[in-house]
Amino acid sequence: MVLLIVNAVVAGLFALSYFLIARISRGQRPVIAFGVSYLLGMVTPISEIAIRLTDYPAPFMLASYMALLGGFLAMAAALSIFHRKRPPWTAIATLAVLGLITRIAIWGGTRDDLIYELAFQLPLALGILLCSHTAFRTGKGQLNHTLAGLFLLSGLNFFIKPFVAAALGSGQTARDYAGSAYALYSQASTAILLTAAGLTVLLIVIQTTIQEYVRTAETDHLSGLLNRCGFDRQAQALLASAPIGKRQLCAVMIDLDHFKRINDCFGHDMGDRVIQAFADILRSTAPKSAHLARTGGEEFVILLNRVSAPAAGLIVEAMRAHTREHGQADLPTFSFSAGIAQYQAGDSLADLMRRADQACYRPKTLGRDRIETDDGIAKAVNA
Ligand code: GH3
Ligand code: MG
Ligand code: MG
Repeated sequence: MVLLIVNAVVAGLFALSYFLIARISRGQRPVIAFGVSYLLGMVTPISEIAIRLTDYPAPFMLASYMALLGGFLAMAAALSIFHRKRPPWTAIATLAVLGLITRIAIWGGTRDDLIYELAFQLPLALGILLCSHTAFRTGKGQLNHTLAGLFLLSGLNFFIKPFVAAALGSGQTARDYAGSAYALYSQASTAILLTAAGLTVLLIVIQTTIQEYVRTAETDHLSGLLNRCGFDRQAQALLASAPIGKRQLCAVMIDLDHFKRINDCFGHDMGDRVIQAFADILRSTAPKSAHLARTGGEEFVILLNRVSAPAAGLIVEAMRAHTREHGQADLPTFSFSAGIAQYQAGDSLADLMRRADQACYRPKTLGRDRIETDDGIAKAVNA
């Protein structure tokens, strides 16, 4: 009885945590689905208590079983919704119907019979294995795989239960069951495994929430590129990831030419649209591995990993050509000046960026719309 109360309270606390996360973090509304799953999970221990306390256990027996199965199926749906995937509705509906039919078909059967117990546990085991499958299919990373493993163990535990029931005896009636050693094993093992799974889900939700906040904090909202904070963190990580001798990196500093004139002639909104269009050009022209950032008003930086200075020159030259012929009739023509610096052994990120910045100054005195490298050699001259 105490264990049942503990189970109900733990499920309630989990549900409450998810509802609170959904309330605090607007981007995490799908988390409500986890809360619903745990609310259903709460109904099972409460029904088990009611079975012991009332003279009409039948409705509570059905509620206990269907709520447990419903909780598992809701968890499979919640995992999909959380990872923005389509829930496996067909499998969920099939298992719900299978569970209901099976439970009614074995109604009044002998509880300590192996076939009865197998039939009883099979839909539950399949429900929780569906959670394992969904966690594995929809989520990435260590935590999601841990979760899939915990659900797999829980599912296997449900398959094993009938054999433990046969060995220990699970009582002839619902009330006998409630006081049996098997009930203790069944409820304790389920509680431990499902609490571990619940904590893992909570960790996944918290990790995802933090990642989303970091992503938002490190993104420039106008261009969708990294902002200075995001760029610095990613660039430092990139620099630290390769031994000094093996680093082949180029930094590109870009400044749009006469941008003030665009604002003055066409308005600030048009200036914003030019920044967005230029960000699109960078995204479509840069290699996938490039780190792209807008670090100031009309200033951008690119970090090109495993790219030599001549190759970086070609990439930036392609960006210059795309900018010249951006093809958007309602946007004014615009150009940029760029400076390229190549990583040299012993450089800090600040050293590399300073040289790229210095290289970017030169085109401004030479007529703009040019690309220069930090050794002062003009790589491309305005045609
Ligand atoms: P130069 O070719 O020498 O770089 O000249 P410039 O006009 O591009 O440079 P300057 O530094 O004189 O002007 C930059 C302008 O960018 C001034 C500022 O109003 C504008 N700016 C900065 N941030 C934004 C923004 O977010 N949106 C818009 N529309 N304009 C911005
Ligand atoms: Mg500038
Ligand atoms: Mg400028």
